[in-house]
Amino acid sequence: MPSPDYCVSRFRAVRRPTREVAVGGVGVGGRNPLRLQSMTTSDTEDVAATLAQCIRLAEAGCEIIRITAPNKAAAIALRDIHRQFRAAGFAQPLVADIHFLPAAAMEAVEHVEKVRVNPGNYADKKKFAVREYTDSQYREELERLHEAFSPLVLRAKALGRALRIGTNHGSLSDRILNRHGDTPMGMVESALEFVRIAESHGFRDLVLSLKASNPKVMVEAYRLAARRMADEGMDYPLHLGVTEAGEGEDARIKSAIGIGSLLADGLGDTLRVSLTEDPWHEIPVCRELARRAEALWSQADAAKAAGDARDAVEPYAFRRRPATEVALSPGCKVGGSQPPRVVVSATAPLDRPADIVREVLEVHAGQREARIEGLLLRHRGPADANGVAALRDGLQGHVQALFLEGDSAPDDALLAGPGLPVIPVLPAGAINPGLAAAWKASGRTWAIDALPSELPALLPLLGPSCIVTCTRLAPGLHALGTYRLLAEALRLAGAANPLWIRCAEAHRALAEPGFGGELLEASIQAGGLLVDGLGDLIACDVPAAATKRLTLAYDILQGARARQTKTEYVACPSCGRTLFDIQSTTLRIKARTGHLKGVTIAVMGCIVNGPGEMADADFGYVGGAPGKINLYVGKEPVRFNIAQEEAVERLVDLIKEHGKWVEA
Ligand code: SF4
Repeated sequence: MPSPDYCVSRFRAVRRPTREVAVGGVGVGGRNPLRLQSMTTSDTEDVAATLAQCIRLAEAGCEIIRITAPNKAAAIALRDIHRQFRAAGFAQPLVADIHFLPAAAMEAVEHVEKVRVNPGNYADKKKFAVREYTDSQYREELERLHEAFSPLVLRAKALGRALRIGTNHGSLSDRILNRHGDTPMGMVESALEFVRIAESHGFRDLVLSLKASNPKVMVEAYRLAARRMADEGMDYPLHLGVTEAGEGEDARIKSAIGIGSLLADGLGDTLRVSLTEDPWHEIPVCRELARRAEALWSQADAAKAAGDARDAVEPYAFRRRPATEVALSPGCKVGGSQPPRVVVSATAPLDRPADIVREVLEVHAGQREARIEGLLLRHRGPADANGVAALRDGLQGHVQALFLEGDSAPDDALLAGPGLPVIPVLPAGAINPGLAAAWKASGRTWAIDALPSELPALLPLLGPSCIVTCTRLAPGLHALGTYRLLAEALRLAGAANPLWIRCAEAHRALAEPGFGGELLEASIQAGGLLVDGLGDLIACDVPAAATKRLTLAYDILQGARARQTKTEYVACPSCGRTLFDIQSTTLRIKARTGHLKGVTIAVMGCIVNGPGEMADADFGYVGGAPGKINLYVGKEPVRFNIAQEEAVERLVDLIKEHGKWVEA
């Protein structure tokens, strides 16, 4: 069985023990609270503008502020920014962000409390070269790295600065790519090479990050880093982040999936939520993720967690849990190789079927799939037979199946009749062995709502076409832990019933009131399970209009890379290198291309880092020079120096040329 020892428990949130690293006057790791970070987007050499952004971030609650230093002149400007920031009465440490230029790092370390280097490009120029490295060639490369990185380590040690070894998926060195591929393993090895050099000089004021735009990759990389550090006796704090998350709800969802699920496993000491928005918008999201995690950590029973058994989810490589394929309707199946399906609950009660029909028609308008896959209704017994019959008839063509939930098993008056299929949903205490046996014999699809501890006794009754869900919390466990244990209970019994993830009321106790808090909570729970490969149906039962709940469920599936129902965007948060107005451009590109299901478009501020970090985008829109855009197909630049004003239309032309365009 795979080892989960990247964390104490996968069921309770126990914080990973780390050393405390002092970043100026702010401690990161150890017993310190989670530290909130962001990054300025102004031109660093514009000292007044960058200072103003630092002040605005500090006032918003940002505890560590990063500033890009793309060249030596920008690194020199950090001196004035730092002095003026302190003179203005702010104590937050500043961090220089370095890519490619050791000379800029050597200058920056003189002026700021921490320097971030990217191991993928600190000592290597990326040439996308394919070659085999013999062991001795690889050793020579490491010696070259040692020579290039040691001066910064020694200077940081002398000055009492901290360093962040910040690996990014998509910008690994050729050496790492050729040996490990563009994989979580490659990301971790890349970081550890730099850590070992620092340790060889007795320097340990290090923080590690392993970011990716794909939350699956990011989660696996951080887990593997924690595991490898444990193997090597290292205890460096982790800086969490999902890169190029974009803007708006999609970006918050992706960040919550990646950052929130790691925090639930106890990993993470400082975090940044990258948004293609003004940087101070990142702080409330960071704060909410941190508040929620610290609440979880304070509730967990560490002694019980230490004794928790392992589950069988492979934590370092995605594998979807095998589930039996079950029909929701003649045209819609769940489990097997089917994409995870979405269930949405109706707001109106069953004695007002006309209101439910009206709501469904509203919800359905403009949605991404031809029909709502599951409509969840609450019944009160035979009194609702007429309502159910009306909906079975009236919602044909709009809904695949009705899910009928109640405190007792629905009888034939509710289940029999023409029209849409009805899927009964029973609480574990309401199971009627005779009825269950009849449903098992007839192959009827139904669902059981059970705690993991209740499941073993029930399993002989269920049969393969029973969907398993849980709307309660297992005692002492968090929502992710409850579902993980549910999946494990099924596996141990040799059962492969589909699993239905519901962000139910009992699971949402930690959510901040309001849709923003509910969105983050649902994303952590459903998204965190989906990146584990768990979940064949999802429902976001958050207090919001049905349209919002349905959209949220699809967006979480998209954010977790479990099911794509709209265009996927990878957009950098921008920084001092950005060559065009990335916020307004991203919105224009979204308005023009948002209907291209299955297409991924990257919008990146500069060609220095953009192409490397576009991950698996089909098309790229990248700043080539001030006001000029280069367009990419995959990682290949194909159009150069297009005026910004016409570049969105040229991007559309390119998508058409490659046969990926459909009219909206
Ligand atoms: S890709 Fe964006 S965030 Fe990254 S360096 Fe370029 S402009 Fe800055």
